[in-house]
Amino acid sequence: MSTSLLSHTAKEHLGANNSLQQLCRRFSANSHALERIAAIYPMRISPYYLNLIEQPGDPIWRQAVPDPLELDDPQGLTDPLDEENLSPVPNLVHKYPDRALLLISNQCPVYCRFCTRKRKVGRPEMHISEDTIAAGLDYLRRTPSINDVLLSGGDPLMLDDHSLNDILTRLRRIPSVRTIRIGTRVPCTLPARVTPHLATMLATHHPLFINTHFNHPRELTPEATQACALLADAGIPLGCQTVLLRGVNDSTETLAALFRGLLTMRVKPYYLFQIDQTRGTSHFRTTIDCGLKIMSGLIGHVSGMAIPTYALDAPGGGGKIPLTPSYVTGCGDTLEFFTYRGQSCQYPNTLWDGSL
Ligand code: SF4
Repeated sequence: MSTSLLSHTAKEHLGANNSLQQLCRRFSANSHALERIAAIYPMRISPYYLNLIEQPGDPIWRQAVPDPLELDDPQGLTDPLDEENLSPVPNLVHKYPDRALLLISNQCPVYCRFCTRKRKVGRPEMHISEDTIAAGLDYLRRTPSINDVLLSGGDPLMLDDHSLNDILTRLRRIPSVRTIRIGTRVPCTLPARVTPHLATMLATHHPLFINTHFNHPRELTPEATQACALLADAGIPLGCQTVLLRGVNDSTETLAALFRGLLTMRVKPYYLFQIDQTRGTSHFRTTIDCGLKIMSGLIGHVSGMAIPTYALDAPGGGGKIPLTPSYVTGCGDTLEFFTYRGQSCQYPNTLWDGSL
């Protein structure tokens, strides 16, 4: 994406984009160590998100500030979901039969240290231009089996309203495309970018859904709440895709607070993702057991509306696999299971024969 397409609001709120200097000044961090990592995996922290950091090593810091461990991860995979091989044209991933992912921006307000597309987001290798977007739209036109398109990047809301409206309008002209989704972390990392004008423009492209991305209750600020309210008031259903991150949110209490808070903001927790095996992110990885234990602690204890699906994205483009704690202990003529409180229980597993 050319920087000229960057939203004016995004530019204004990103300021001079000197997050490294600001961080070092405020927390006396070692700029040389950070620069060495940022030369490989770019660093950007919006002033708003930087202000959420209370101290080095806290959950906000860990998500945004480069860590030397990123450079010590030989087993991590560059492209864990095999997206490049699943791209019939650059920046369009066609993994499932009826939907596709179209990347329309290579920039984000914060370059999350755990990003799956760490190999290219914010780097010159991720070349997005009017030509690549046109090629993506052309592929969608030629592939009528695709009826659901997810716009992502980078962050699509980094584009200015005019450019984003233009892409959405061209997408809407493709008769086979029924639903449009936007994946964005802007409500969490640069909420001021969500303006009434943006929300009104997006509402002209319904049915349009937004899946945002919050990982910690400290991200649920009044500013983020206001951004989500603007979008929800425009009739846009909001979901949240959270990533399970070691040292950030890997506890039942933290995620219960996050999911309850999101629901209050009219954001439905949608997925809790097991982190992908992306190179440079292994220090964030929890075990699957940890995730299942957290889910057991949530199910039944927190409103079902606030419970996301815990899932992993199978390596090599295998798609999403739901991971659910097992409650069933036997299944013959009678289903035997545990309740969320751990009591054993039974339920008939036969059809009613119709007799009274
Ligand atoms: S906002 Fe999303 S795409 Fe951008 S760096 Fe974070 S996880 Fe990656």
